[in-house]
Amino acid sequence: MAKADAATTLETEPARFPDARFIGSEIYRHSSYGGWHPLRIPRVSTTMDLSRALGWLGPGNYITSPRAKAAALSHWHDPAYLAALQRAEETGAVDAATRARHNIGTHANPIFPEVWRRPATSAGAALMAAEMLAAPGRIFAPACGTHHGLPDRANGFCYLNDPVLAILALRRQGLRRVAYVDLDAHHCDGVAHAFAADADVLLISTHEENRWPRTGALTDAGAGAGLGAMFNLPLPAGVNDDAFALITDRLILPAVTAFRPDALVIQCGSDALADDPQSRLMLSNRALWATLAALMPLSDRVLVTGGGGYNPWSVGRAWTGLWGVVAGFDVPDVLPAPAEAVLRALSWPQSRLGRNPPAHWFTTLADAPHHGPIPDAVRARLDVLTARLAVWV
Ligand SMILES: [Zn+2]
Repeated sequence: MAKADAATTLETEPARFPDARFIGSEIYRHSSYGGWHPLRIPRVSTTMDLSRALGWLGPGNYITSPRAKAAALSHWHDPAYLAALQRAEETGAVDAATRARHNIGTHANPIFPEVWRRPATSAGAALMAAEMLAAPGRIFAPACGTHHGLPDRANGFCYLNDPVLAILALRRQGLRRVAYVDLDAHHCDGVAHAFAADADVLLISTHEENRWPRTGALTDAGAGAGLGAMFNLPLPAGVNDDAFALITDRLILPAVTAFRPDALVIQCGSDALADDPQSRLMLSNRALWATLAALMPLSDRVLVTGGGGYNPWSVGRAWTGLWGVVAGFDVPDVLPAPAEAVLRALSWPQSRLGRNPPAHWFTTLADAPHHGPIPDAVRARLDVLTARLAVWV
């Protein structure tokens, strides 16, 4: 490349999967839940900027998310709750009764300037993705991992539940059997609330044990016997890439393969990564990408979302790599200068980790692999779940 070109945006590289689409929005760039909240950091905008700087994102594969209208969300959410969210954005406040009824205006789920528009935008992406998947395709919608949202209440930083809305919208396209795989450090309690008793939805969740919301016990199989079962795998602190590879090979891939889904939704929160402050799991971003790469071929209709992720460098690098997997780009060993500049522009002064960031948070996309022993508890729990799986494979 000529020297004069180095500072300009790179040309978009050819993707191995040219039909892959990234649904994003500029609304996330300056939106924050508040200066003290874990979601004060930019995430989707970093992923967009980093992807563009790598030449992985351009007008040919980027789609701006529409904002969902309340009526389109009432397939699952309570209209009174949707009205309360809109009112909260207009007035910037909630009264005590609304706070108690809908769990908004709390520390976890604060009122901020885009408290309606932001969740309605990611929900719009979820609905759009489901409509696009009437035809085979691969879609990455990083903002759509809000797996804690409940029908009439905000929950765990989630005001709406994009995975639920997406799965219901896939159903309306005539795609009956949907597999949902959740790799976030927290259990997907909102998605389980919607589908635990649904024989046509397979739910698989790996999450840290003894962590909020404390649902998703190993023994919680939902109401679905056989197909449509729920597989919950609580993980002890310290789980590394080798353990996660075993979980992928013994549980996640066989279960999804046996289910033969019409569509696959994968929630790839990055809070199970070692660099994330909200869990004690110790994955590298390579583990997340490897599991996603192994899952992608199991359906010709796949929606990949983000989720948790509370270290601005770690989440931006991890989610950009997810897009690389979805679209089929190779992760470079060392980031080109425009990509490094995106990461150098981030700051995280409120965190001890952010005051002295290591060099590889600026210069690489991939973490070093996190090898190590596989805890006996992981093997034992896998034995329990694979015994259940064996009934229907
Ligand atoms: Zn999480």
